Amino acid sequence: MARYTGPVCRMCRTEQKKLMLKGARCRSDKCAINKKRAAPGKDPKGRMAKRSDYAIQLREKQKLKRIYGMLEKQFSLFFERAQRMPGITGENLFLLLERRLDNVVYRLRFASSRKEARQIVLHGHVLVNGERVNIPSYLIRTGDSIEIKDASKNFALIKDALKEYGKSGVMPWLQLDPDALKGKILAFPRRSDITDLSDIKEQMIVEYYSK
Ligand code: SF4
Repeated sequence: MARYTGPVCRMCRTEQKKLMLKGARCRSDKCAINKKRAAPGKDPKGRMAKRSDYAIQLREKQKLKRIYGMLEKQFSLFFERAQRMPGITGENLFLLLERRLDNVVYRLRFASSRKEARQIVLHGHVLVNGERVNIPSYLIRTGDSIEIKDASKNFALIKDALKEYGKSGVMPWLQLDPDALKGKILAFPRRSDITDLSDIKEQMIVEYYSK
């Protein structure tokens, strides 16, 4: 499966936003955004000031795509699917992205970043309704149970990530039994549930793809 292998923090510096791509480091003082590192390249402030509407829309799309760790082709396929769904395309896009299995594993605090969650899924550590699923883009449904398989329940990486559950719990559309490492999808998320991404302007992404 194709994936981005370049410098990760550079993407946050480009967007001047914490995209939370590196797990625990993102919450530490080592984070480039916490250190107020400037965007890469010459005269980033001047470039930001002169941005066209198209450039602003492009950046919004890039931000969301990078947060969910997707490449362009797959992201645009998700957008096309969101367009075909009834309702508001931008909200549909968020719903589809949140339903990805790697995202749900991250949201259930089994991983400290979506990248780590993707590895956990790819390596077959995750069961959906009791069956092993190793496809990060698999879309979960309401009522699904998501759990770490027994043989993987003592993985330090998963236990470390789960410490975050004690601090901030899980989103209201999810339920977690932290001892059993088992979660449940209570409902599909609404846009208003995705509070950590409330600054993303999905309408701009819709406008970007409408050109
Ligand atoms: Fe982005 Fe995390 Fe790197 Fe900070 S540490 S710049 S949030 S990837």
